[in-house]
Amino acid sequence: MRVLMIEDEPEMARVIAAKLGRSGFIADHMRTLGEARAALAAHRYSFALLDRRLPDGDGISLLAELRKSQPGVRVLVLTACDAVTDKIAALDSGADDYLTKPFGVDELLARLRVALRHAAAAGAGGAPPVYVNGELEVDLAARRVTVAGREVHLTPHEFKLLAFLVKHAGKVVTHRQLLREVWGPEYGDENHYVRVYMAQLRHKLERDPARPRHLLTEPGVGYRLLES
Ligand code: CA
Repeated sequence: MRVLMIEDEPEMARVIAAKLGRSGFIADHMRTLGEARAALAAHRYSFALLDRRLPDGDGISLLAELRKSQPGVRVLVLTACDAVTDKIAALDSGADDYLTKPFGVDELLARLRVALRHAAAAGAGGAPPVYVNGELEVDLAARRVTVAGREVHLTPHEFKLLAFLVKHAGKVVTHRQLLREVWGPEYGDENHYVRVYMAQLRHKLERDPARPRHLLTEPGVGYRLLES
């Protein structure tokens, strides 16, 4: 697995590269957008770690090129501040996920492993799988949802919302992404729709809807279906 790491802080890059190396990844370290472009032309990458604040520009300005030149690449954006707008910008620009600095390298590896599983599942193709996460089972093809073996009836909108989260399990999806997917491309700012439907889903799927274990809120950004 080859990882493109675009990060201008030497100490951070050294620590991440060492850990990735010990975990069986090959990490190519680039310090600028310019260096990263050269690397994209020369290699195929499975993952990219993309810092936002780089000497020659904003990391997310590279996202479109990255996607075009590296089909199937999974992109994790590293943001230096905890601002919600930064996270939304990264996800809406096509990042798969983000990590807020400072983060633990173990957390980074955990996110990489989630991405790896998704890449493997997407590559396997074939019939849509039955998604299993603890007591929750979602058969996307049959549109059947069970919790601890009991079938749960969902409305069409609830099912579409859940199906989108299942397809992006482990990753944060933004309110805007959910609205467009479930309600249609003309939607984007009706966050209250998502909140209402998410509350209904939690009542149907969570043992304790007030303390959800699967359907987590990412404050101000969106939701994440937590992988168990
Ligand atoms: Ca930086």
